[in-house]
Amino acid sequence: MTAKTPVNVILLGPPGAGKGTQAARLVEERNMVQLSTGDMLRAAKDSGTEMGKRVADVMARGELVTDEIVIGLIEEQLTTAKGNGFIFDGFPRTLAQADALGALLEKTGQSLDAVIEMQVDDEVLVGRIVGRAAEAVAAGGTARADDNEESLKLRLMEYYKKTSPLIGYYHAKGALQSIDGLGAIDEVAVSIGAIVDKAGS
Ligand code: ADP
Repeated sequence: MTAKTPVNVILLGPPGAGKGTQAARLVEERNMVQLSTGDMLRAAKDSGTEMGKRVADVMARGELVTDEIVIGLIEEQLTTAKGNGFIFDGFPRTLAQADALGALLEKTGQSLDAVIEMQVDDEVLVGRIVGRAAEAVAAGGTARADDNEESLKLRLMEYYKKTSPLIGYYHAKGALQSIDGLGAIDEVAVSIGAIVDKAGS
């Protein structure tokens, strides 16, 4: 069974939790629209825009870029992108971003239907990210500038300090659903699909 009405969901979890992988599945299987602020920022960096140049070092170190920049990116997409609901991947990452998203959705007459927290152990995250970097290099490419142990430590710290409070925030709003992110990709996809179906029924 597939969700009947478009649903808007947040994938919440630390770096390496598998948000991007699962978002891609939702795009493919349900024609949803993935809004990844990380991808948008990397695209800005690669195309050499003023903003891209400003954020490159911050991202490479593993720190968060300013709320103002990412909120601007999301606002632009929310008003232009069309599809069967949005998947917010890597956004919001701070309480200010969460408040801004709520206000933007309200302004555009949309709702937030589920916040899916992907739970994963820290040791697994480090292994996945180090593996992702090695795979990129083996395939003849280059690893992401922030996929190294030093930046990863900072990314994890940023997550615990600034993003993990969103778990309590969305729990208090009655929107939080937590799933085990440690299973195989297909298993995790089934758990997420069930939540999306329920939210859209
Ligand atoms: P990951 O989830 O693997 O850490 P992302 O691709 O989501 O990677 O993000 C990469 C980097 O882009 C972050 O470490 C941060 O510097 C920046 N970034 C992405 N989204 C946000 C956001 N919502 N707020 C602030 N910075 C962000």
